[in-house]
Amino acid sequence: MAKTHNGHVNLLDPNSTEKMENKPEVKKVKNYINGSWVESSGKETVDVINPANGTIIAKCPLSTEKDINDAVNAAKQAFVSWRQTPVEDRIQVFFKLKMLLEKNLEEIAKICTTENGKTLVEARGDVRRGIQMVEVACSMPTLLMGKGLEDIASGIDCYAIRRPMGVFSAITPFNFPPMVPFWFWPFAIASGNTFILKPSERVPLSQVRIFELIEEAGMPKGVMNLVNGSKEVVNALCNHPDIKGISFVGSTPVAKHVYETATKTGKRVQALGGAKNFMVVLPDAIMDSAVKTVFESCTGCAGQRCLAGSVILGVGDDTYSKLEAGIVKIAKQVKVGDGLDPDTNIGPVISKEAKEKVKALIQSAKDEGATILVDGREYKENPDGYFLGPTVIAGITKNMKIAKEEVFGPVVCLAKTKSLDEAIEWLNSSEYGNTTSLFTTSGAAARKFCYEVDPSMIGINIGVPAPMAFFSFGGSKASFFGDIKAHGQASADFYTDTKVGIYRWVKDSSIW
Ligand code: NAD
Repeated sequence: MAKTHNGHVNLLDPNSTEKMENKPEVKKVKNYINGSWVESSGKETVDVINPANGTIIAKCPLSTEKDINDAVNAAKQAFVSWRQTPVEDRIQVFFKLKMLLEKNLEEIAKICTTENGKTLVEARGDVRRGIQMVEVACSMPTLLMGKGLEDIASGIDCYAIRRPMGVFSAITPFNFPPMVPFWFWPFAIASGNTFILKPSERVPLSQVRIFELIEEAGMPKGVMNLVNGSKEVVNALCNHPDIKGISFVGSTPVAKHVYETATKTGKRVQALGGAKNFMVVLPDAIMDSAVKTVFESCTGCAGQRCLAGSVILGVGDDTYSKLEAGIVKIAKQVKVGDGLDPDTNIGPVISKEAKEKVKALIQSAKDEGATILVDGREYKENPDGYFLGPTVIAGITKNMKIAKEEVFGPVVCLAKTKSLDEAIEWLNSSEYGNTTSLFTTSGAAARKFCYEVDPSMIGINIGVPAPMAFFSFGGSKASFFGDIKAHGQASADFYTDTKVGIYRWVKDSSIW
């Protein structure tokens, strides 16, 4: 059976004589520290499970404080020469990595589908968005430039430059296994810092393959390190005195915990949390495309996106009726199944617990008086996988549990408002502020919406308003803890310290 560089079995090798479903060889994932693939010092592991069939595909180690210390020491050591490497030389690694990622895109997408469950089309998009981060990190020489001004006082000049700071780290969630780490490390590394990544223990395999490519691209040892594990590793990173800053993406309670813990030890922190996203449909929307876009937003990636639509507010009786009829129709047509099947529209959710949590939220809506028009809990095929069909619920009101909490499953919640003002007031009352969308053909309505809503990422006739790599990403309220958002120009601010020099050049009149 084919092995990858670090000795992991390549479960996706088409030439393999051993089929994954017949006899999976379950390997313990390794860490990548100081340019070598190493066993974690932790004995405990968690099972990495293919959510489409419940098979254990790998074991993820629960690394220890010792592993973190080793990674920090390697990254600290590597920082000494990496920060002195000209930025133009640093980004050469990214040009090579971009080509390697393109070449291996399909393989990484399949690994992503196998560990996360999303469809192959969604997984390819996940990798593509990651590659775009690498492309934009190649513009770091421009993003890193400082400012200068002559004669701030007579004969005195001032220059502000950006300096790398040392070791940074990112802690990432299960829902975009390839992409989310790319939001951070290419910008940190291209700025001259060194890095430790801790991916979700539920989906460590995409990053194993990506790190093999990072190594192949020629990244100097110690610059990029991978430590697998769970909350013990997170807490060790947050408390480590030699880590300068942490980027976190995950649920709101953990985002808050990471923000509070890591800022106590003086670190820079950007912690992106959970979401509850509202979409508003006005009577003048192009209804067919609004219906399709709203449905895809709520159910794409099985609803497991921080930008997923959740509560859909139709303004006025007529709009609401069209919306409800259209969404119910599509919900009855989509195909649920293994993400590797090209006909699948909706893959499984990540785990049995996640499935039970979504089912309980659907039940809570019913118990609180809502009407279930399409019940995804009735999906009974593939009993070994963690599948839910799409659910459509009508009659949602503001105080229902399902109207307030993040669902993270393929559920569309429908409600009616009398006016755009009422819709804006409702969505602004949410504790979260990640994203919101309006469907309309009116420029005035769009302008009013953008002006008045709290969430930071806004879509006009867009279902998943994800800023591209060259813009910055992040929400507000309980969806974001920190000041400086992810990727784009903001990353130059997060990953550097600004040094200001004020110069008075004194003339030695004996020379000239
Ligand atoms: P999670 O909070 O369970 O896990 C995220 C990371 O935190 C993982 O690496 C995990 O190992 C670690 N972790 C988990 N529990 C911990 C604890 N008690 N102490 C310390 N560390 C802990 O999140 P998840 O389930 O992997 O991901 C889904 C969540 O992420 C959703 O809420 C989703 O909205 C959010 N998310 C947000 C964004 C965004 O941009 N705002 C993007 C993607 C996902």
